[in-house]
Amino acid sequence: MGSLENTTENGEPMDLPPCNGVGGGDSSFALVETPPEKGLSRKIKPGILPLEVGTRVMCKWRDNKYHSVKVIERRKLNNGGPNDYEYYVHYVEFNRRLDEWVKLEQLDLDSVEADVDEKVEDKAASLKMTRHQKRKIDETHVEGHEELDAASLREHEEFTKVKNIATIELGRYEIETWYFSPFPPEYSDSLKLYFCEFCLNFMKRKEQLQRHMRKCDLKHPPGDEIYRSGTLSMFEVDGKKNKVYTQNLCYLAKLFLDHKTLYYDVDLFLFYILCECDDRGCHMVGYFSKEKHSEESYNLACILTLPPYQRKGYGKFLIAFSYELSKKEGKVGTPERPLSDLGLLSYRGYWTRVLLDILKKHKSNISIKELSDMTAIKADDILSTLQNLELIQYRKGQHAICADPKVLDRHLKAAGRGGLEVDVSKLIWTPYKEQS
Ligand SMILES: [Zn+2]
Repeated sequence: MGSLENTTENGEPMDLPPCNGVGGGDSSFALVETPPEKGLSRKIKPGILPLEVGTRVMCKWRDNKYHSVKVIERRKLNNGGPNDYEYYVHYVEFNRRLDEWVKLEQLDLDSVEADVDEKVEDKAASLKMTRHQKRKIDETHVEGHEELDAASLREHEEFTKVKNIATIELGRYEIETWYFSPFPPEYSDSLKLYFCEFCLNFMKRKEQLQRHMRKCDLKHPPGDEIYRSGTLSMFEVDGKKNKVYTQNLCYLAKLFLDHKTLYYDVDLFLFYILCECDDRGCHMVGYFSKEKHSEESYNLACILTLPPYQRKGYGKFLIAFSYELSKKEGKVGTPERPLSDLGLLSYRGYWTRVLLDILKKHKSNISIKELSDMTAIKADDILSTLQNLELIQYRKGQHAICADPKVLDRHLKAAGRGGLEVDVSKLIWTPYKEQS
């Protein structure tokens, strides 16, 4: 069960990207050398302030060390002089979720790189998108990323780069957010939002939430409970039947998902909500969404484990669950692309565990097609996983899967364990059929 502790109040740097137990990925975040201490009476080069968007400069982070940042946005301070701004910066070597507003004092102005990236200036101009432009981009996104050219995708990213809501309250947790989410304009000036953990309605004030909780009669997600094992439950929610709930879910999820666009068109999706249940109700842990019909055999669109529940094996559970649904449908499945780097890591771990477990037990030769039939994993994903592990060998003019038990064990160990198991006997579900 989760604890009562507040996930963010200790002021510690937030966890760097969670790796779902697949190794510790943090080593790639090399720290930049700390520049020598500056004297107190430093001279500011004339004309340098306010810093331009796109400027690169060293910035003191929560670890008290200086790191290279890029200025993404700036805003004037209330009651400040003409050059009194604060800056929204991206730490060049860190994940975008650590982007934040910083004060001028945190910046080492001697390290300012005068060369402002010209393209950034263009982008800054494009920031002032009209509502129409924005809607157009959002609509295109619903159709899929592939229809967006790189330029408008970048433009969209520029538009959505500055975090608006800093924290949310959800059930007994207060959670620091990671990314921008396009809440309706009347919420965009709120630093904190209060969510009803059951119906996912959100409010600007705590008193509003308290009032809401007195009359909200939901104690679990709407829709059908399709799985229960111990204290874990899974609910299937049809976006068409529960529009408000699923749209709220999308707003909430986007706070923790980068590069995933919000599906305003929730009608086309089913949402699978994983909950921990106790005597107070069923508390959302995470979810994944799935297109009702996918030409590309996608069996998962978005996946999220809420921060207080991360690193407990729930992400692995959700991935495994999506494949169990595909097996019941008698179809192969694959996650929607593009996958985030962390998403790919989680999937690689899952594919490795499932495939190598079979290879270990299987005495005779086995083909990729057979593996795919047994696991509902798409043949392309099987091939890329095995190639990545260098288990495909070319012998006597034919490709063969290497199944040396020692090699398999080494890879299995590296992939880590699967975490929470899906008990298929507890899954009561029939595949979605259009009711006409
Ligand atoms: Zn409610």
